[in-house]
Amino acid sequence: MKPRRVSKPIWVGPVKIGGDAPISVQSMTKTDTRDVQATVRQIKELEEVGCDIVRCAVPDLEAARALADIKRQVKIPIIADIHFHHHLALEAIKSGVDGLRLNPGNLRDADKVRSVVKAAKERGIPIRIGVNFGSLPPVGGIGKSGGLSRVYDMVNRLPKAGEAKPGEYSVVDHMVATALWEIQILEDMDFDNIKISLKAFDVPTTIEAYRRIARMVPYPLHLGITEAGTVKAGSIRSAVGLGYLLYEGIGDTIRVSLSGDPREEVFAGYEILKALNLRQKGVTLIACPSCGRADVDVVRLANQVDEIIKGLNANIRVAVMGCEVNGPGEAKDADVGIAAGVGRAVIFRKGQKVRVVNAGEMLTALLEEVEKLLQEQKAGSLGD
Ligand code: SF4
Repeated sequence: MKPRRVSKPIWVGPVKIGGDAPISVQSMTKTDTRDVQATVRQIKELEEVGCDIVRCAVPDLEAARALADIKRQVKIPIIADIHFHHHLALEAIKSGVDGLRLNPGNLRDADKVRSVVKAAKERGIPIRIGVNFGSLPPVGGIGKSGGLSRVYDMVNRLPKAGEAKPGEYSVVDHMVATALWEIQILEDMDFDNIKISLKAFDVPTTIEAYRRIARMVPYPLHLGITEAGTVKAGSIRSAVGLGYLLYEGIGDTIRVSLSGDPREEVFAGYEILKALNLRQKGVTLIACPSCGRADVDVVRLANQVDEIIKGLNANIRVAVMGCEVNGPGEAKDADVGIAAGVGRAVIFRKGQKVRVVNAGEMLTALLEEVEKLLQEQKAGSLGD
C-alpha cells in the first residue's frame, strides 16, 4: 500500500479532513429537506451508525432555510448540496451549514461563484468543488453560463479512460479542466478551504480523474462513484473504485452512493476502510462462506450475528464459522468467534477454545462472550 498523499487539511465543523485525519465517512439524506422532521430523523439514524458528515439536497429556498432548523437538532456537520443557483448557497450559509458542495458543471457564472466564496470565507466554511460526470459543462463551455443542453453538448461523445487516442481530449481531461476552472476562481480570492471530487459511474474514468487531480493540487479529495447502484452492486462498484484509490494513498473522505437506506452507505464506507486497515469502526464480522463440511446453517447464523453486532460501538473482530475442524484456525485473527459442530458449538478467542455450548444456545453464548470482551476492553482502557 502506498503512503497517503499529503493534503492540506480542512475542517467541516469539528471533523478534520485531509492531512493526518482519519478518512471520514459521509452520507446524504434521501428525505425532502423541507420536511425538517423526516430529515432530522434520518440524520439521527446516520449519527447512530457512526456517519461523520451528512449532506442535504437544497432544491429551493425553503430547503435552504429549513437547514437552520435541522442544524439545531443534530450533532454531525451538515453540508449543503448546491446546483444551479448561487442564492441557495448564500441562504444555506445563513442557515449555518458547515460546508458547501458547489457543482461547477451547472453553476458556471464566475461572478456568482465569487459571491458564494466571499460569504463562505466570512463564515470560515469549506467548499467542495463537486465535479460529476452526469452534469459536466458542455465541451467548450467550462465557465460559460447558458450554453448547449447536455444532449447536444458532446460530453457523451468524449472517450472514457483507456479509450482516448494519444492527444485526444477525453472525459477525464474535461472533468479535471472543470475542477481547475473553479479552483482558480477560489485561489484568486485567496480561498483555500477547498475539497474536491471528480465522480463518474465509470470506475476507470473516476480513478484516472482522481489520480490526475491528486498530482496537481494540494487539497483533500472526497471520493465517490456516482450513481453506483443498488446496495449490493453499488457497494462492490464503489469498493473497486474507492479501494483502488485508497490503496494508492489517494482520498481523505468517502461517500458510497447507494440506491438504498443511507445507513447502508455508511456501513459500506466503513467496510471499505476496514478492508484496507485504514479505519476500524464498529465490529468486523468474519464469516466463513460455508461448505459441505458445515454443521449448521452458517449463512443464517452469520446474518443473525451481523444484525445484532453491526451497530456496536467497538473495535473488535467476531467470527462465525461453520465447522469445528477448520473454523478456529481459519479465524485465528478474530477476537472472539464461534465454530459450530454437530449439536454443539465451540467458542474461541484468538483461535483458542474457551467454551463448548449446546447448539441451541450458541447465539446467546457468542453474544455473551462479545459482551465480556467489551467489558474487559473497557476495564483495560480505564486502567491505562
Ligand atoms: S469453516 Fe468449516 S464449514 Fe466454514 S468454509 Fe471452512 S471448512 Fe467449510
